[in-house]
Amino acid sequence: MTVILRTVAELRAVVRGWKAEGHVVGVVPTMGALHEGHLSLARRAKAECGRVITTIFVNPMQFNNPDDLKKYPRTEEADAALLNWVGVEVIFAPAPDEVYPPGFVSKVTVGGVSGPLEGTLRPGHFEGVATVVAKLFGMSQADRAYFGQKDWQQLQVVQRLVADLNMAVTVVGCETVRDPDGLAMSSRNLRLTAEGRRRAPALYAAMLAAARDVRSGVPEAQAMARATAAVLAEGFDSVEYIALRDAETLEAVTDPDRPLRMLAAAWIDDVRLIDNIAV
Ligand code: AMP
Repeated sequence: MTVILRTVAELRAVVRGWKAEGHVVGVVPTMGALHEGHLSLARRAKAECGRVITTIFVNPMQFNNPDDLKKYPRTEEADAALLNWVGVEVIFAPAPDEVYPPGFVSKVTVGGVSGPLEGTLRPGHFEGVATVVAKLFGMSQADRAYFGQKDWQQLQVVQRLVADLNMAVTVVGCETVRDPDGLAMSSRNLRLTAEGRRRAPALYAAMLAAARDVRSGVPEAQAMARATAAVLAEGFDSVEYIALRDAETLEAVTDPDRPLRMLAAAWIDDVRLIDNIAV
């Protein structure tokens, strides 16, 4: 039976016991409203670790938009049932005060990869992510941590953070899980209208087409413009970016022989969707 813990002290005590027994400890950080994407991370963690913690914490520090924070879905009971089914040992679901007690003033800033794309459009977002991830690693003392490629730039930020600060945790990046029509699973998909949900897969379809264009020699700017036009024609309200970038630094492509990634953010139904694919 999955146990729900609320305090860092309780979590530490449990993990201390596990480590004394020689278990490898895995952590899966989430903001809840769990779907198959999250569960794929938890299953991978279960397969590779003796004991698994899933954290559920809607981190106020990483929301640059108060309305988005307020509207973020919270479904803890259903989440706990799913994690119990997957066999996760512990859910760590602290209150905001437990994570950010009065007097809290420290922040973790990751340079470089935090700058472009989401970094520019969501000021402070990656500082919030890096801070809470560093804290969750400190709280959980996990050996392995599981993140989704769905949030590609976030995954690069976390990998940079762990390397730069010599954190003793192995970061595992897991494939994006999609609905059968191609839409990347996301807790925010719950906020789409039926019509928006029907149109939303156009983003992934346009990215796949643009990747084919790029591979067949269409100039990058033209391929991205075509994808943007296609997404808008399918009823998206706006496109923040569809961009081809260096997969690791997220900078503009200067060396096409390095791994590349196409990343996108677009709005439909007042919901901001992001996605990315290998090119
Ligand atoms: P979130 O709850 O949105 O913060 O996501 C928690 C973790 O689940 C992050 O590492 C995400 O990248 C990952 N994740 C979210 N959606 C998916 C998905 N569709 N496929 C794989 N991983 C995902």
